[in-house]
Amino acid sequence: MTGRIHDASTFPGGSLECDVVVVGSGAGGAVAAAELAESGFSVTVMEEGPHRPTESFTDDDLAMVRALYRDGGVTSTLGRPPIAYNEGRCVGGSTVVNGGMAWRTPERVLDRWRRHDDMPDMTAATLEPWFQRVERLLSVATQDAGSIGQDQHLFRRGAERLGWRVVDNRRAQVHCAGCNRCVFGCPTGAKQSTLVSYLPRAMAFGAEVYADCRVDRITFKGKRAIGVRGKVLGDRGRPSKAFAVDAAAVVVAAGAIQTPALLTRSGFRSPSGRTGHGLTVHPGAQVTGVFDRPVEGWKGVHQAYQVREFDEDGVILAAVNIPPALVARSLPFDGDRLGGAMDDYSAMVTAGVLVEDTSSGRVRTVGGSPVPMYRITDRDTVRITTAVQHLGELLFAAGARHVYLPFPTPDGGVADVDALRRLPLPRPVDLELLTVHLMGTAAMGGDPTRHVCDPRGRVWDAASLYVADASVFPSPVGVNPMETIMALSSCTASAVAEDLGGPR
Ligand SMILES: Cc1cc2nc3c(=O)[nH]c(=O)nc-3n(C[C@H](O)[C@H](O)[C@H](O)COP(=O)(O)OP(=O)(O)OC[C@H]3O[C@@H](n4cnc5c(N)ncnc54)[C@H](O)[C@@H]3O)c2cc1C
Ligand code: SF4
Repeated sequence: MTGRIHDASTFPGGSLECDVVVVGSGAGGAVAAAELAESGFSVTVMEEGPHRPTESFTDDDLAMVRALYRDGGVTSTLGRPPIAYNEGRCVGGSTVVNGGMAWRTPERVLDRWRRHDDMPDMTAATLEPWFQRVERLLSVATQDAGSIGQDQHLFRRGAERLGWRVVDNRRAQVHCAGCNRCVFGCPTGAKQSTLVSYLPRAMAFGAEVYADCRVDRITFKGKRAIGVRGKVLGDRGRPSKAFAVDAAAVVVAAGAIQTPALLTRSGFRSPSGRTGHGLTVHPGAQVTGVFDRPVEGWKGVHQAYQVREFDEDGVILAAVNIPPALVARSLPFDGDRLGGAMDDYSAMVTAGVLVEDTSSGRVRTVGGSPVPMYRITDRDTVRITTAVQHLGELLFAAGARHVYLPFPTPDGGVADVDALRRLPLPRPVDLELLTVHLMGTAAMGGDPTRHVCDPRGRVWDAASLYVADASVFPSPVGVNPMETIMALSSCTASAVAEDLGGPR
């Protein structure tokens, strides 16, 4: 029978029973739910965030951020420097607000996981069926030409003039209209977030999805996970009625910040002592180029291309249009000078760097809540600065008149490539960093003394307990992480099915 989405207005709390309860409905949770439902298990998904259907996505940025992001989208790590980060919090999780980029795990990363993390089966060949299935179910493809705007063409031209390798981006989308609203919820339904792909599929195979339901803890009988307990979030998100779900298996997919906190406040102690450790974030930084003519970067999809010249250094460059308020926040001016600089908004190309970090941080659990701490190393400060200089160089090659960087410069901006190359290395504390990729706080691997989960997502030293989200990465993946999360989650779902005696 087809399942449906319940929420605080229809679910009064109480007790539920199923074969598998999944915590979280984002990239990891929705995939696990769909695969297990299709295998014939009764599946219940408990999601803390609200259900916001595609029709409710408007052009009111602020309202969308409040509705779809955790803590109104304003969260940051503690450390040097603080790093602003975003988590989706709604049915569909971060996939509802993400850019839809979909890339397989690079071979060099799989190689590292095989050698350093005792996962000999983590090969491209073993993962191939999972990647293929995820790509098919998400319609992963490059963009239609008509959806690509001027900012992307300029970005590509800059890379080509420098002779750098630039590739068409691969995105989870069906006939994307290029309206550039991805991070506020795709209003056309073109982006294949789990809200419109895996969750409807899960429900078609009978899964029930409960929005507004925050899981407070996992329940155990000895070392066996037997369900979850939590609260329905009622009026204004206040905890109201209690719920309990009893299940033969518990799959935790609350994301790399929330998952370690949930495991810890449930009383689980990993023999590795590594729950919450290993937080990696792909630190990102923004560079803005100002051109002599209108670019109107808000027209057309973001990140139609990626520069992959620096893959081996773990660096990706891409152009991402950013709304005026966020550009203004990043410029080194205030008052009239800021107003004057923002007059050029329509002639700006905003672009970003993604850097595969060599540092890692930790999510501590304080009073039951996660507190992410992260300190950038001197080595990564150099790598980020170099990546920023590459991006500045690209924007100048594309014809930018001047560029603004994510750290203080003597004149507030930079006027040419020579000035860019002469800049001293910024202090880590002066870097303005952000991330939307949070990974690695319940790492998988073959050694229970170093890893929280086994190579198929089973939590070491517990029974019937699995993790199926970005937490399981033993190190950063170096590309947009969604497809890797989904492939690993599919694999974990197959482990759950096997442990429950095979598909029904
Ligand atoms: C703005 C933005 C842009 C991005 N762009 C891209 C991109 O283009 N390509 C890409 O590959 N990646 C992108 N990412 C990253 C990608 O979306 C995430 O890495 C991925 O969605 C993480 O999957 P997850 O399952 O770990 O967590 P999520 O997708 O975040 O899902 C976790 C879910 O669990 C729920 N939850 C948490 N705690 C509880 C609890 N206690 N009880 C019940 N539910 C709970 C949350 O509300 C959330 O819905 C982007 C992310 C953001 C925020
Ligand atoms: S550009 Fe517009 S249509 Fe395309 S995926 Fe993003 S929000 Fe959807």
